[in-house]
Amino acid sequence: MCNRQQHVETHTQSLYEHGFSATRAVHGAGEADPHTGAVLTPICQSTTYAHAAVGEHRGHTYSRASNPTVSAAERAIGSLEDAPPAVCFSTGMAAISALFLSLLRSGDHAVISDVVYGGTMRLADQILAGLGIAVTYADTTRAQEVARAITPATRLVFIETPANPTLVLTDIAAVAHLCHERGVPLAVDNTFLTPFIQRPLDLGATVSLASTTKYIEGHNATLGGAITTRDQALDARLRLVRKTLGFIQSPFEAWLTIRGIKTLGLRMRRQCESAARIAGFLSAHPDITRVCYPGLANNPQHDLARRQHIGGLHGGIVSFEVRGGALAGLRVMNALTLCTRAENLGAAETLVTHPATMTHADVPQDIRERAGLTDGLIRLSVGLEEPDDIIDDLARALPSSERRAPRTLVAL
Ligand SMILES: *Cc1c(COP(=O)(O)O)cnc(C)c1O
Repeated sequence: MCNRQQHVETHTQSLYEHGFSATRAVHGAGEADPHTGAVLTPICQSTTYAHAAVGEHRGHTYSRASNPTVSAAERAIGSLEDAPPAVCFSTGMAAISALFLSLLRSGDHAVISDVVYGGTMRLADQILAGLGIAVTYADTTRAQEVARAITPATRLVFIETPANPTLVLTDIAAVAHLCHERGVPLAVDNTFLTPFIQRPLDLGATVSLASTTKYIEGHNATLGGAITTRDQALDARLRLVRKTLGFIQSPFEAWLTIRGIKTLGLRMRRQCESAARIAGFLSAHPDITRVCYPGLANNPQHDLARRQHIGGLHGGIVSFEVRGGALAGLRVMNALTLCTRAENLGAAETLVTHPATMTHADVPQDIRERAGLTDGLIRLSVGLEEPDDIIDDLARALPSSERRAPRTLVAL
């Protein structure tokens, strides 16, 4: 076992030197299984592991604490960010919960982006508040707002960039710098871009976190979450919290995640390129009043996007508003035939969501409106279909198409 471990470490070290994320994505879980030669990591579907003698085991004892397939997924995800193995959880929310419970106790305080995944707000407002943990929601797109929100009791700054669903950006390096000065760890929810496009640890963050449910697994097949850090004490604390609260990922979900990661580079590139085209189409369309996409040259944060995102790619999500407000937007959503109305994002299928009534329904309306999350906003997660087919579907659903002769649906 010791040999195998060393082997895996040397192997991933040589991958770092390549500097190619797509290569790491394919090989990061490790080489062929030393026992059987299996090229794809086997699923180790076992609750428990035999001891050769009392106290003598091969690194795993019970699958609530660790599991060989989960460990392989952790190596793969850590490798994407030049980091030690990630810590994998049963869901993204389990990862976020474990992070807060690892770093915060009663009397402590956290600063969170004011535009953030709805579940993160629910965790803070409905669970952590009851445990005596206070939270300030700050406009983290302005670093000085973060500085202002930090108090002597602050033990965590948690940001999401691009933020769900308005896609506003936070300058990770700037916020990391001011967090370092104050000795507060910075965590970045990197779900929307993945380490293929954005590497929070390299920009100074202590924690990079993702719901692997989205792009990392990428096929609408699993739930999962992963936390990557180079802080050894935090890593140990996260594993203790995970083992104690019991929300490690299952071996089968970890295996599907490893398989998904192998095509992460291909999928991300295609989804980002299609999203950029669709954002261009929507921007030029007379029925559209607002398009949120950091890759657009007229986006107010485009310079930051170019600095912070890797490879000229800016993500596969586009949010937009239809002329005529919420009702017109809902009518467009209901007229779509290729894009599926569903809550997930980052998968092969193009999914369309109405955040105000779906993902962010629990966020009070005044808070939503202040953050630009208007009732008319529609979020599109661009999938792997031909981008022209997605554009055709949108064009046909938009109100001005009613004035044109109907076209026949392209064969799918
Ligand atoms: C989906 C999502 C989460 C939560 O992940 P689950 O796997 O659904 O628990 C957290 N953050 C962001 C940005 C997400 O999109």
